[in-house]
Amino acid sequence: GSHMTTSSRYKTELCRTYSESGRCRYGAKCQFAHGLGELRQANRHPKYKTELCHKFKLQGRCPYGSRCHFIHNPTED
Ligand SMILES: [Zn+2]
Ligand SMILES: [Zn+2]
Repeated sequence: GSHMTTSSRYKTELCRTYSESGRCRYGAKCQFAHGLGELRQANRHPKYKTELCHKFKLQGRCPYGSRCHFIHNPTED
């Protein structure tokens, strides 16, 4: 039979095996991310860097700096 392997931590952490050796025997079924492109950002604010920071926009600065959850510079990726 089949069993659920999906956990809340699914692809939220980089695969240690893959990052150390460049491969992993679990392949596509691995619970962990094989590279940053697969990494889910579960620990981040749901709107992380999806909206412009109002503080920065109005005042030109923001006390959170680079830790801010909002976009300061739209051209910055
Ligand atoms: Zn893996
Ligand atoms: Zn900000």
